[in-house]
Formats: sequence, C-alpha cells, structure tokens
Amino acid sequence: MDIKANLETVKKTFINPDCLLVAVSKTKPLEDLKKAYDCGIRDFGENKVQELQAKQPEMPEDTRWHMIGHLQSNKVKYIAPYVYLIHGVDSFKLLKEVNKQGKKIDRIIPVLLQIHIADEESKFGFDKNELLEMFQDPNFKGLTHVQIKGLMGMATFTENESQIRKEFKGLKNLFEELKNESLPDFVQMEEISMGMSGDYLIAQEEGSTMVRIGSAIFGSRNYPH
Ligand SMILES: *Cc1c(COP(=O)(O)O)cnc(C)c1O
Repeated sequence: MDIKANLETVKKTFINPDCLLVAVSKTKPLEDLKKAYDCGIRDFGENKVQELQAKQPEMPEDTRWHMIGHLQSNKVKYIAPYVYLIHGVDSFKLLKEVNKQGKKIDRIIPVLLQIHIADEESKFGFDKNELLEMFQDPNFKGLTHVQIKGLMGMATFTENESQIRKEFKGLKNLFEELKNESLPDFVQMEEISMGMSGDYLIAQEEGSTMVRIGSAIFGSRNYPH
C-alpha cells in the first residue's frame, strides 16, 4: 500500500479543502499510522477502545484520536483522558457517562451526536425526536463536562448515489435547524462528520466538515470491523 500516494490522491479530489480528513486506521498496524503521520496527518479514527488504547501511547503526543464507532458506556473511562473527539455519541445514557468521566478527571470532552440517517436497522444513532426529547430533559442542561460540537451520520451502504445524497442532505438540514434552537452554551453546531471512502465527495458537496476515510488511504481491511 502506498499510503503517501493514496493520501495525495484523496486530498486532490477534495471539493472542500478545509474539510478535515480523519484517517481511519482501525485494524491497521502502527507502521501504517506512522507513515500517514509522516505525511502530515494528525487526525486518526479508531472504532475499538482496546485497539485505541494499544496505539495511543505508541504515537507522537500531538496525534489527535477520534473515536468513530459505537462506544460502550463502560469503556468511556479508558479514553476520557486523551480522546480528541467522540463521533458516535448515540444515546443520552452514553452522553451522561462521558460527562461523568470528564468530571472525574476535570476535562471537558468534545463529542458529536450521532444521528440515524441510514435506511438500515443496524446503524446506531438518535432520530430527530429523540434528540429534541433529550434537549428538553431537565438533566441535559446540567451537563458540565461535555462539549457537543455537532453531528455525525453514516449513510446507507448502497451504490445509489441519490439515496446517499438525500441522507446527507437530511443531516445537514437538521444541523441547520439546530443552529436556530436555543440550546445550552455547551452545544455548538460547528461540525458535521459525514463521508467515508465511498461517499466523501457527495458528503463534501452536501456540507461535510469532517470526513472519515479508511480504505482509500490504508487499503481494504482484512476482516470486518
Ligand atoms: C470504518 C469506518 C469508516 C471508514 O470506512 P472506509 O469505508 O474504510 O473509509 C468511517 N466511519 C466509521 C464510523 C467507520 O466505522
């Protein structure tokens, strides 16, 4: 795998050069992460706490670790001290746990709320009503150690471009709607994490500010993850 060439190719196709590239390094060996780091990449995405824990001490201090997958509440404590952004906060329960762990170590932890946009049962995330319900919950505005920086979504795994585009548009519309809601100060709608190797260009056209790209940089993964 020529990681340097892949990174150049990916970057060259960006429609929005300001969109942050998160290099999704799950299942990949450290040497691959180091190659990407040497090409200037600082943002890495992992989806398993155990793997993140193993890699984090081995990479330079200024590496920014993005937790991109489904996160179990009982594992938040391990990554709380260093995680740069948790993309997949998909329930109020998890958000409260992140807050609790942040409080313990006196750190305000940046998160995105994952919204269910795909036409598939298996994808995690809030729907709009669940989100609005959480915002109304009296316990919500008492959160002190999380900073909600925006939304994250994953489109349906399909070749159908118009469906993917429709789902991304839906996420962007919700994002814009929320900007007009009166929400506590710790909620700032600044980032939309949407787009992966197969759909990052559509995502950028629809307003993504962060794309999570794995296989287009590091090659296909040997096992499902
Ligand atoms: C694996 C993964 C990606 C990257 O997928 P690629 O298709 O390899 O780019 C992005 N986001 C999440 C949440 C993932 O789990």
